[in-house]
Amino acid sequence: MIGHLQAPPPERGLFCNRTLNLRAIKAIGYDMDYTLIHYKVEVWEKRAYEYMRDRLAAQGWPVAHLTFDPVLAMRGLIIDTEKGNLIKANRFGFVKKALHGTRPMSFESQRDEYMRTVIDLSERRWIFLNTLFSLSEACLYAQLVDLLDEDKLEGPMGYNDLYEHVRRSLDATHMEGALKAEIIANPARYVQADPETPLALLDQKHAGKKLLLITNSEWAYTLPMMHAAFDPHLPQGMTWRELFDVVIVSARKPEFFTTRSSLFEVVTVAGQEGLLRPHSGPLKPGVPYFGGSASEVERSLGMSGDEILYVGDHMFGDVHVSKSALRWRTALILRELEDEIRAISAFRTTETRLAERMQQKERLEAEACQVRLELQRRRLGYTARDESLPGDEQLHARSLELRAQQEALDAELGPMARAASELSNPVWGLLTRAGNDKSHLARQVERYADIYTSRVSNFLFATPFVYLRSPRGSLPHDPSTPGGTPVFPHPTTGGDTGGGDTGGA
Ligand code: IMP
Ligand code: MG
Repeated sequence: MIGHLQAPPPERGLFCNRTLNLRAIKAIGYDMDYTLIHYKVEVWEKRAYEYMRDRLAAQGWPVAHLTFDPVLAMRGLIIDTEKGNLIKANRFGFVKKALHGTRPMSFESQRDEYMRTVIDLSERRWIFLNTLFSLSEACLYAQLVDLLDEDKLEGPMGYNDLYEHVRRSLDATHMEGALKAEIIANPARYVQADPETPLALLDQKHAGKKLLLITNSEWAYTLPMMHAAFDPHLPQGMTWRELFDVVIVSARKPEFFTTRSSLFEVVTVAGQEGLLRPHSGPLKPGVPYFGGSASEVERSLGMSGDEILYVGDHMFGDVHVSKSALRWRTALILRELEDEIRAISAFRTTETRLAERMQQKERLEAEACQVRLELQRRRLGYTARDESLPGDEQLHARSLELRAQQEALDAELGPMARAASELSNPVWGLLTRAGNDKSHLARQVERYADIYTSRVSNFLFATPFVYLRSPRGSLPHDPSTPGGTPVFPHPTTGGDTGGGDTGGA
């Protein structure tokens, strides 16, 4: 094995939902923020949070004491703007864990609130945390719900109104320029450098792929940030501008994929940068464009959707819409996957023990059910007695014995199951799991992302020629493999809010 062709560490793999032959891909489009450029989340989001908080404080809100809590929220959670809750749902849309404001909801109130609820993200009530940019918003909203409940916020205000305030404040923070100016002035403070990303793109370019940059960021931000992230790592004399065949800024995704908007050339006139000139006709390499649409890109390249792979971090704006509207091939960048996979790996020994104990528990439960049924039949006398079975007293004794064994097992299982539910994030657990099932985020990943991976430079290990094949999907009726009982079971939780246990994240 040579150089980068070595197998990557497990957390740096490309994971495939639908078979993708990279050789058949003629163009690869990239999102910029949190895709080509990864930010130090705690630093970026803390700063965004502070801007939002200070904006509200300037309007007289009593929020100056609040601070950003990076573990309170994570991508893939859902804000319930009607109830002021932050929730994690499983793949069916059933709520598995909820906070009201910043406080965990009790099992009973969670059940009462959500027993009959199936989350449908097309309803305005729910806000899915699509990207790492959502963390500041979710954290501030949860903290403000606490203040609202304590009657510390002025005016008649509902949880919905509160969310609208936070949203407006976040939009303003992203758009007004002061935060971005800070980042441009000191990219190293905010950007997690990855010198391998430019090399991965160079490999693709020299393998004959057209490279596209399609970002919602404005030109004034894109230019310095791409310069800082790419130019020091490209061959001498080359800049990021030569790497891309098409550059589109202020793309207005998701509308970019669904609507035809006017296209402008970004030009410099008399030393004044970033002016816009209407453009029609094919896109010229080396020229940055503003706006436009994905169908215009397809037409200009003379390619169909299945020849274009789009790589982005925004579950809805980058991956869901490009797949649903135009059937582009899609790759989701999920940086958290690295931590997730490491946490799962570190838990493996306990997980094996947990699975063994769960098998024991299932055997005990099955026997206890049989004993109970036999005792019921004897008590009510509606079947002929099977004389080969032990007598009543022996059966009662066995029933007690089984119960004691189950209780002992539960005592052992409880802490292990709890640890499983706290992997990676003490409040929410794993991003891709909800209880014993896939999370809502995991379901969206498999629906909309043909492949997913933690960062763009993982393409380096795979090469531009890789043939990625999806694994055979498993179903509950498949013959189970040894030790193949459910992973991360929650054996000690009670009750049901429809579609599964509510315990654990
Ligand atoms: P992209 O990921 O490269 O398409 O760019 C994302 C751009 O959208 C960045 O410039 C962000 O500052 C901006 N952005 C992210 N979230 C929000 C938001 O909630 N409101 C407004 N702008 C946002
Ligand atoms: Mg992005």
